[in-house]
Amino acid sequence: MPNRPCAIIDLAALKHNFSVVKQATPYAKIMAVIKANGYGHGMLAVASALSDADGFAVARLEEAITLRNAGYSKPIAVFTGFTSTEELNTFAIYDLDAVIHSEYQVGLLDEVLLPKPISIWLKINTGMNRLGVEPSEVQRINDRLTLCGMIRQPIKLMTHLACADDMRSLHTEQQIELFDASVVGLSGEQSIANSAGLLGWQYAQRHWVRPGIMLYGGSPFCEQSALELGLKPVMTLNSQVIALRTIKKGDYVGYGASWVADKSCLIATIGIGYGDGYPRHAAIGTPVRINGQTAYLVGRVSMDSINVDVSECRGINVGDQAVLWGSDLAIDEVADKSGTISYDLMCGVTERVKKITKPITYDE
Ligand SMILES: *Cc1c(COP(=O)(O)O)cnc(C)c1O
Repeated sequence: MPNRPCAIIDLAALKHNFSVVKQATPYAKIMAVIKANGYGHGMLAVASALSDADGFAVARLEEAITLRNAGYSKPIAVFTGFTSTEELNTFAIYDLDAVIHSEYQVGLLDEVLLPKPISIWLKINTGMNRLGVEPSEVQRINDRLTLCGMIRQPIKLMTHLACADDMRSLHTEQQIELFDASVVGLSGEQSIANSAGLLGWQYAQRHWVRPGIMLYGGSPFCEQSALELGLKPVMTLNSQVIALRTIKKGDYVGYGASWVADKSCLIATIGIGYGDGYPRHAAIGTPVRINGQTAYLVGRVSMDSINVDVSECRGINVGDQAVLWGSDLAIDEVADKSGTISYDLMCGVTERVKKITKPITYDE
């Protein structure tokens, strides 16, 4: 184990999580969402382990080009689509699926002469109010697109759910109803569900599902753990204990002297901080695992280190490995203690953390 923070990426766990998606949705095609560098895991490593996916989705055109150039020939959808005719040309050249979410993009399609027609998803705003055309405009825009020679027919149809992480929310049903009402009579393939959507609302599965977080072993629900869903953590973030010190009652730890010991304790300093992507807002008491035991964060998170109380742990030595999240410690628990979500933690791991990809072995 190197003497610096490292993120171990377990591709066998990723493959396992893909099989959980497959089981939950045996009839839909799976578009594996690998935007933001595969949620921080390394896009190409992730893609290599998802050879059974029917397609991939990324957020930006550059990510899609990287994926195509690496030799992937399956459909690749780009969620943000294009903003210029130059970009449109690139979609055609690389055979990428564009998401049309605003009518100005239809105008660009009317203007351009592409080397070959492109495949598109028409995205409908059913309530999220981020990207998508209005439900009342779908039929009219579809008619416009049908006349456009640069598009493969039939046009595919999608929307995105705003509250699928909350199984009790009524918004999801309303969004699905609005989607269905707006696409009456259209024959293109449909896609509605992200991870939470496909697990929580079977009738949202349609032709294509778009799982992201569950592939990486994060729970898409606020009230159900990844373990309960049968998901395995793909990323394990590690670092070393770099110092140990005994402090006495009344001593403080870290910037701002925000934490004061109410008794004598043993403090371990671990070589990881917000400069590595450990959340600066992690609360006092956030768990860290060392040698199979739980220690608790004390004081503020620094750029390069954190401090944990190991008074209740046995046999802790300088050089021991600490797990910040992953195997042994659910990332959702750390995210929760930090006022954020697992997505944010995964994507936030910085460049200086060494990524070690654990390949899939034959017995897995
Ligand atoms: C990121 C994203 C997804 C994947 O969502 P998860 O919650 O990670 O499963 C699906 N669809 C769209 C449009 C997205 O932006």
